[in-house]
Amino acid sequence: MTALHDPYLAAVERTDPEIFGLIQEEERYQRDSIRLIPSENYTSRAVMEATGTVLANKYSEGYPGKRYYEGQRNVDLLETIVQDRAKVLFGVQHANVQPYSGSPANLAVYFALLQPGETIMGLTLPHGGHLTHGWAVSATGRFWKSHPYEVDRETHLIDFDQVRKVALEARPRIIVAGGTAYPRTYHFEQFGEIAREVGAYLLADISHIAGLVVAGAHPDPVPHADVVVTTTHKTLRGPRGAMIMCKAEHAEAIDKAVFPGLQGGPHENTIAGIGVALHEAATPEFRAYGHQIVANAKALAEALLERGFDLITGGTDTHLILIDLTGKKVIGKTAAQALDRAGIVGNYNTIPFDTRRPFSPSGLRIGTPSVTSRGMKEPEMRRIAAWMDEALTNVKDEAALDRVAHEVRDFCVAFPAPGLGV
Ligand SMILES: *Cc1c(COP(=O)(O)O)cnc(C)c1O
Repeated sequence: MTALHDPYLAAVERTDPEIFGLIQEEERYQRDSIRLIPSENYTSRAVMEATGTVLANKYSEGYPGKRYYEGQRNVDLLETIVQDRAKVLFGVQHANVQPYSGSPANLAVYFALLQPGETIMGLTLPHGGHLTHGWAVSATGRFWKSHPYEVDRETHLIDFDQVRKVALEARPRIIVAGGTAYPRTYHFEQFGEIAREVGAYLLADISHIAGLVVAGAHPDPVPHADVVVTTTHKTLRGPRGAMIMCKAEHAEAIDKAVFPGLQGGPHENTIAGIGVALHEAATPEFRAYGHQIVANAKALAEALLERGFDLITGGTDTHLILIDLTGKKVIGKTAAQALDRAGIVGNYNTIPFDTRRPFSPSGLRIGTPSVTSRGMKEPEMRRIAAWMDEALTNVKDEAALDRVAHEVRDFCVAFPAPGLGV
């Protein structure tokens, strides 16, 4: 059993120095930079360890008690425990913890509940929806009809009079509430009312906000949605994966759609990591974490507004901020590159009704899950806003960007990131 007592990654170093080197480089990068990509996070060491275990050696097609292979005694117990943790934490009747990631999870939901050619009504991608909410290049837009809703042209908020109007027109089979670049509260109750009025299912895709939901820092979709999908690796702070949660009446259809409908053997090593993450998410510390994510996002938004940045919807209710750079005379891509050079990582993004093209949009999307995992609080958000301002007013000035990068690196030392081995 010596391998178990090896120092971190020692076997990778011995076997494959090339891969080892890149992992180390990435660790340094994650340690020394301020990571503001709102879909990313730092998992705990416990989550990472559980994910990298002998469970990766298993084949377990099927579900606990109904497998197609022998030798499942440990895996059956494991997957049942993880399902039960999801059910308790989210207050749902059924949980499928096998989806490989968020995109296949959404595909499975449509496959379970819709006939090909029926209509999906999600938030349009350029306004913050996800590809898998029916966007044309996604399989979800090929096999189903897409009739999206938009945010309001003036406020950039989801306006429920408009959502209702679109729903009455489109008569969708499913309405999707959720997104990737919408900085405000998702009002699931109102989505639920509209879905019931038009005879549609409501899918709450809480991939981004699941950690906020379990912390009580965002309204709960469960009473209003037929199905709730979440990735496990964003604010929920688990390994890369996803879960589908639903009312008991849909359990069989959902399970069949995941396996054998779309997937083969589940990644039980990932499921173990999800189990550890759910265990962590049930603690008072995680509850505080979820609330601090939002407090930090609000503080960061406030500080950016004071520095003359335009924010879509004027701020945030969640972990996410969408900056409109139109008035700053710098485009999203240039901004994101300059920030990365300065040790601050965000991503360029379209803004609603963007006049620029998707490959070079006017927006910058940032968020606070990762910095909050490092224990940063409101005063640190003000420091980050100042560095962002400095970098973005000096996008062509290598020396200025270098200076910020140095300061950022020194600053990061005081906030050790969970899970890192260096
Ligand atoms: C991230 C995300 C997904 C997809 O997750 P992947 O794991 O990247 O496939 C789906 N829906 C929403 C709203 C997301 O934010």
